[in-house]
Amino acid sequence: MKQNEKPTALIMLFGATGDLAKRKLFPSLYNLYKKGKLERFAVIGVARRPLTNEEFQKSVADSLQVSSDSSENLDDFTSRFYYHSHDVTDSSSYQVLKNMAGELDQHYSLEGNRIFYLAMAPEFFGTIAEHLKHDGLTDVPGFKRLVIEKPFGHDLESAKELNSRIRTAFNEDEVYRIDHYLGKEMVQNIEVIRFANAIFEPLWNNRFISNIQVTSSETLGVEERGRYYEKSGALRDMVQNHMLQMVALLAMEPPIRLTTDEIRSEKVKVLRALRPLEGQEVNNAFVRGQYGAGQINSTPVPAYRQEQMVDENSNTETFVAGKLLIDNFRWAGVPIYIRTGKRMKAKSTKIVIQFQDVPMNLYYQTEQTLNPNLLVIHIQPEEGITLHLNAKKSGKNTEATQVKLNFANKDIDGINTPEAYEKLLYDCMRGDATNFTHWDEVALSWNFVDKISDVWESTKEQNFPNYESGSMGPDAADELLAKDGFFWWPVTDLEVENC
Ligand code: NAD
Repeated sequence: MKQNEKPTALIMLFGATGDLAKRKLFPSLYNLYKKGKLERFAVIGVARRPLTNEEFQKSVADSLQVSSDSSENLDDFTSRFYYHSHDVTDSSSYQVLKNMAGELDQHYSLEGNRIFYLAMAPEFFGTIAEHLKHDGLTDVPGFKRLVIEKPFGHDLESAKELNSRIRTAFNEDEVYRIDHYLGKEMVQNIEVIRFANAIFEPLWNNRFISNIQVTSSETLGVEERGRYYEKSGALRDMVQNHMLQMVALLAMEPPIRLTTDEIRSEKVKVLRALRPLEGQEVNNAFVRGQYGAGQINSTPVPAYRQEQMVDENSNTETFVAGKLLIDNFRWAGVPIYIRTGKRMKAKSTKIVIQFQDVPMNLYYQTEQTLNPNLLVIHIQPEEGITLHLNAKKSGKNTEATQVKLNFANKDIDGINTPEAYEKLLYDCMRGDATNFTHWDEVALSWNFVDKISDVWESTKEQNFPNYESGSMGPDAADELLAKDGFFWWPVTDLEVENC
């Protein structure tokens, strides 16, 4: 389907009374609707709570009131929302759902196109997929697509089991595994920056890049998600998916074409080339942390172990830093450092590409060294690129100073870029799976991460909590880079400036 074609589909949303539906999915659909990007569509919301269609439509409207600045054609939009109270484990209920879907398909002329969006806890994914197949809901003349939220399994074994259950009802090319980082404007921009500029690609290798740093830090703690987080931790929640996906985009070879298959195949090669870690290597290359009490924006916050539904002796990590090595010609010897954590000093997702030093310093700066060139990709909250160069200090003969070339997305486009979910929903409706995760990527990522969790789960970390809320993580994360002669570029000093 072309970029500006308007898709038609029935969207069956499982988990329609949940947080994700209200905060992200309804607003994203409404934005697509207001922009005229949807042709014909209807939504069946499915959840346990008994609600009438009218009550459901009101809850959709209420969620839009919070997130949307206009209520253009709101009644027409919400009139396309229907509700079915359904326990997904109850077989008899799927027949009612099937009849309802058939009627709406006819009423709105939806051509038998169906999207099943599972905005629910992952333990239900397999059951729902099997029922959809068994009860004939996937038996349609149009397309059928399954959208699933993370986490996709808990480790490689459980991911394989889940995948095989899903595949009884859907082919791999009908499964859209959401990684919402892949919907972010600046994550999508990584490829364009790399492959549409003659100046970067020749330098994008181990001869000119000394290291890469990928940081995704949050100021929020675990909030109400203690029960989920205790079993997950930062490694499974962030590294297995978002962090490794960003690394794959940064390190992949140029695809021969911008098609889903070609791009995925290049990303898969990166994940295959990740140097696996075994036993003690894990502790040399990875650092885990857990937040203690501290202050965020001058407000005291509790330690992780004091959060709701968290074990008071919890061994769960809320911070991970690691050194990745990619064993291929392009990247041999270049460390890629990643770090992610909760309750950190700043909310920031940034990528810093540090270039090698010039062979000889003819100039000097205050500390007698030249600043290395940096390319900073700002993913969120601000979106843009900064290139750090050295230039002559005005009035001085031989002194260089750092200058920054800045590009802030909003200065160019003049608008906030669409929310990731809006783009991903639209892509799914158009049948473009490029920005979703293929099973091969999921499996390779779990394979890498499982080695780390095996070591961490078998040894209790005695020093937890080992970083204060409001800091940038444990000292060991700094030592990880110091061993190689590097340091983390402070994300708070790298803000993109509006031009
Ligand atoms: P939630 O707990 O707020 O909502 C869960 C929904 O599932 C509710 O509508 C509930 O009624 C329904 N449900 C639960 N058991 C059911 C059953 N047996 N039968 C029918 N319906 C049932 O969860 P959420 O925060 O919306 O998250 C949903 C999924 O999205 C999870 O997999 C989560 O990990 C993922 N996710 C959420 C967010 C977010 O921002 N909330 C972000 C990324 C991923």
